[in-house]
Amino acid sequence: MEIALDASMPTYSGGLGVLAGDTLRAAADLALPVVAITLVHRKGYFRQHLDANGRQTESPSDWSPAGRLEAVEARAWVNVEGRPVELRGWRFQVRGVTGHEVPVYLLDTSLPSNDEYDQTLTDSLYGGDARYRLCQEVVLGIGGIAMLRALGHADFHTYHMNEGHSSLLTLALLQEHASLHDRGSVIEADVDDVRRKCVFTTHTPVDAGHDHFDADLVEKVLGKERTGILARLTQARSGIFDLTHLAMFFCRSANGVSIRHAHVSRRMFPERPISAITNGVHAVTWTAAPFARLYDRHVPHWRRDNRYLRQASAIPREDIRAAHAEAKANLLEDVQRRTGHTLKPDVMTIGFARRATGYKRIDFIFSNKDRLRRIIDRCGPIQLVYAGKAHARDSVGKAGIEHIFAVSAALKGVLPVFYLEDYDMSLASLIVAGVDLWLNNPVKPLEASGTSGMKAALNGVPSLSILDGWWIEGWIEGVTGWAIGDGAEEPGDSTKELDSLYDKLEHIILPMFYQQPRAYLGVMRSAISHNGSFFNAQRMVSQYLRTVYEPGMALPEAEVLQ
Ligand SMILES: *Cc1c(COP(=O)(O)O)cnc(C)c1O
Repeated sequence: MEIALDASMPTYSGGLGVLAGDTLRAAADLALPVVAITLVHRKGYFRQHLDANGRQTESPSDWSPAGRLEAVEARAWVNVEGRPVELRGWRFQVRGVTGHEVPVYLLDTSLPSNDEYDQTLTDSLYGGDARYRLCQEVVLGIGGIAMLRALGHADFHTYHMNEGHSSLLTLALLQEHASLHDRGSVIEADVDDVRRKCVFTTHTPVDAGHDHFDADLVEKVLGKERTGILARLTQARSGIFDLTHLAMFFCRSANGVSIRHAHVSRRMFPERPISAITNGVHAVTWTAAPFARLYDRHVPHWRRDNRYLRQASAIPREDIRAAHAEAKANLLEDVQRRTGHTLKPDVMTIGFARRATGYKRIDFIFSNKDRLRRIIDRCGPIQLVYAGKAHARDSVGKAGIEHIFAVSAALKGVLPVFYLEDYDMSLASLIVAGVDLWLNNPVKPLEASGTSGMKAALNGVPSLSILDGWWIEGWIEGVTGWAIGDGAEEPGDSTKELDSLYDKLEHIILPMFYQQPRAYLGVMRSAISHNGSFFNAQRMVSQYLRTVYEPGMALPEAEVLQ
């Protein structure tokens, strides 16, 4: 449903879209024969505005597809609510390190032949009501297959449903297979064929991430016949259509995005084996220029094969210090430009930037302001840089942002806090590279993977994080960063987690940062060599290739990582 292709195109909302883009960038690096489908999102997600009290308002993020994308001639049609809707496509070529290109087709219904409502279907990402969302999912899944055929792509070896949003493509494949065999109705043999071809990745244990619709709405949008096929084959829970379950039902393989997340997902979907492929980020995209130059000098082949970043352990600490100072100066300059305030280059700067939503606990570090003051008095100053959008209808997320503004006013003169507006890929690049410590304190076990800490690691920025998602795998205490709380799967006791966060800052991190800068540089360097070399999208896509995409290479169930 979303792909972050370029910072100048607002076709994504957050981590899911960035991951989709990074996956395609790595597929291009590895010269894989891949084609991707998404929607054009003419009004983007939204532009975030914050007033002096941190109250968020939103405006459309209009952009011009014609200015950035190549129009394709092909047209396709899809039936929505009984009406034929015409689709056009725009092409974006993702270019890999060796020049291989992966085409992405962005579907667009804004054509004069469509009625007014249908023309808006590819406007807003995660906007509108349930009807709008379901119609978009028909365009994405069923329209996506129609567009691939119109472009001249015959069947594919594998269809990767990235999230349940695209899972109506299984319906298109079922009907295509049935009509290929001159059958008016869909039978078990068609189901087997679709299952052989489809793979599925689930990305979150949070309920809001899994679309479900009332059966009445589904019947209105899909029509009686198509709804009947799905209901009969999948024996859907009566009254509800769940797109994650649809994808699970029709795939030959399903995976979660970290080892812990796969484990949690198996409890949510006990009907299927779920393996784990831990996310990664596209190293060349997320490495800031000063570090890219450093790697070019010390790790010559890192762009072609990110695994060589392991050799970062031999880079002199002084070079790491200089590259980081430059990345930090770039961030501070941007903060100055945006806010008019000057941050200090030699003060411990903590970064926290991600979607503002309840479980991420944006204001957790401020839970005990007195303790925070004591820590600063004892150990030295801290400054904090925040960014992140709350979904327009997420009142808890929005209240979290307002709370940061209130705390910032209350701690004036003690702890400078800056909340930067309109978080996107380019702001993310600046913050993950420019801070000294990456803070992450979600409620367990809701962080499926998390990827911003991986981006930080590529720039030598260690994490202080709850043990959830990718951090369980990337964490080596005092070597790649520090843990908050323990590694149990259940939600932690938040008082204990808070104590742990403060204890680590007070007794380990701040003393090291201010009194043993050489040791801190050592942690920065091993964040790169241990985690940059592994939590990258080239490694992730290689694992998809070997365990999910390639014929006959699916892991037997017993081998699925536990
Ligand atoms: C990387 C990224 C995210 C994901 O951050 P998490 O730590 O995984 O929540 C969200 N938004 C943007 C703009 C990003 O670049």
